[in-house]
Amino acid sequence: MTGSFGAGPLSESADVVIIGGGVVGCAIARELSRFDLSVVLIESSPDVATGTSKANSGILHAGFDAEPGTWKARLNVRGAQLYAELAEGLGIPRKATGSLVVAKDAAQMETVADLRRRGVDNGVPGLEIWNRDQVVAHEPNISADIAGALWAPTGAIVCPFLATVGFAENAIRNGARIVTECAVTAIDVVDKQIVAVQTTRGRIATRFVVNAAGLHSGEVARFAGDDSFTIKPRRGEYILFDRSVGQLVNTVLFPTPDKVSKGILVSPTVHGNVFIGPDAVDIEDPEDKETTAGGLAGIIAGARRIVPTLPLATAITEFAGLRAAAGKDFVIGPSPVARGFIHAAGIQSPGLTSAPAIGEVIVEMLGESGLKLSAKPSFVPVNPPKPRFHELDREAQARLVASDPLFGRVICRCETITEAEIVAAIQSPCGARTVDGVKRRVRAGAGRCQGGFCGPRVTAILARELGIPITAVRKDSANSWLFLSRADFAAEETAHA
Ligand SMILES: Cc1cc2nc3c(=O)[nH]c(=O)nc-3n(C[C@H](O)[C@H](O)[C@H](O)COP(=O)(O)OP(=O)(O)OC[C@H]3O[C@@H](n4cnc5c(N)ncnc54)[C@H](O)[C@@H]3O)c2cc1C
Repeated sequence: MTGSFGAGPLSESADVVIIGGGVVGCAIARELSRFDLSVVLIESSPDVATGTSKANSGILHAGFDAEPGTWKARLNVRGAQLYAELAEGLGIPRKATGSLVVAKDAAQMETVADLRRRGVDNGVPGLEIWNRDQVVAHEPNISADIAGALWAPTGAIVCPFLATVGFAENAIRNGARIVTECAVTAIDVVDKQIVAVQTTRGRIATRFVVNAAGLHSGEVARFAGDDSFTIKPRRGEYILFDRSVGQLVNTVLFPTPDKVSKGILVSPTVHGNVFIGPDAVDIEDPEDKETTAGGLAGIIAGARRIVPTLPLATAITEFAGLRAAAGKDFVIGPSPVARGFIHAAGIQSPGLTSAPAIGEVIVEMLGESGLKLSAKPSFVPVNPPKPRFHELDREAQARLVASDPLFGRVICRCETITEAEIVAAIQSPCGARTVDGVKRRVRAGAGRCQGGFCGPRVTAILARELGIPITAVRKDSANSWLFLSRADFAAEETAHA
């Protein structure tokens, strides 16, 4: 049984409705798709991974930061383990880089030793305190004034978009429906029991709702009369460097953390770039993803304390992500006011790492709340592999071109992405519907020119494959049109005359 994806018709009823198509909602959908249930995930944007899940550090944290006994501690360690088991089969790029928390003096070495003890309590394997020589041998470009570091071999890096898409695609392959461009606007509760969700496209009758709405999860809780928590957005800015920086760093380099955040880090990405960031600034507007001159200057200064020779001239883009802060821990569990309503809310870092483990506990909680969980023998735990042309040797590339000439047409020259990969990204069960959706899936437009060359060609391929006029292709969000028809253009001119 295959599910569906996109802005198609709404189901009139479902066993479970999940609100939010970030990495958390999609991981929950995948976990639920193991069972004989009708699962509908509602996402307000045209695609999955358009909220916090698209703008973060992409680190699978080892799990030494969180206080023992918290959800964060428990789910981080389990989540990191699950990615190691699942990533390859789901098509999620992951690299086991390990991570280092770098200390500059004796006081910071004590903090690092505390982190190690905390990590051991949390069940993180293999943690070691390294001296200066060990760190320099591993990271030749590191600042000369470091004293030592905490080495976490289970730290890793991952592609956050493909993590979300990988979970979503697998959920769809196993029967889940993901309905995009549809926002939940109200939740109906009768006698303290969830009975339906109201959306911008109609009503879905259901007795079980999972709130995975990220920055909007506080509002969604209040739709059911639950004001037990509030979300405060906390922005983090980044600078991304081109792949030409090469092996500037081999592993994730954290500074010794302060009370608010893990600090400004320098890290490789799974795709061979390097980034610096994020800072942590409390803001009011949950949509304010602007980068700022002050923020970027601050992260450059912070990153230079770890790697002084940052190649700033190779910076290709800046971006910001928003943490959904609700207090010290995740908000996970049944709502105190409405039966059948379960929160997976306030999922700030390490939420990307924890997502598959959050999926497990939410399913357990739904079962305890009365959802009948009957395992489906047809569940397929993996997605079919998708060739990444630029990662293959010449012979393998030649075989692909012989099998499909579209592998011979390079559309994105910066990242060597072929037309066949873009078509597959659009045609897959959780297929791209926007230019940025293509970028997040196959990296066309993610390189040095940031889509300046391939953007129009990707737009034309989207129009052709989706059977829509070119004026209907969007960049990312619902109204991010790239072109106006002559009639629309004339109307705009008149309106502004
Ligand atoms: C700067 C920064 C760095 C981070 N670094 C890391 C890291 O390195 N490692 C790590 O493990 N974690 C990290 N995190 C945390 C991680 O990114 C988040 O925990 C995770 O992405 C949260 O996913 P989510 O699904 O809860 O939220 P989101 O991805 O925001 O998804 C929520 C979705 O709900 C949708 N939605 C909201 N309201 C409605 C509605 N009414 N109807 C329908 N849909 C709705 C939104 O459109 C959105 O798509 C970082 C976060 C930030 C901001």
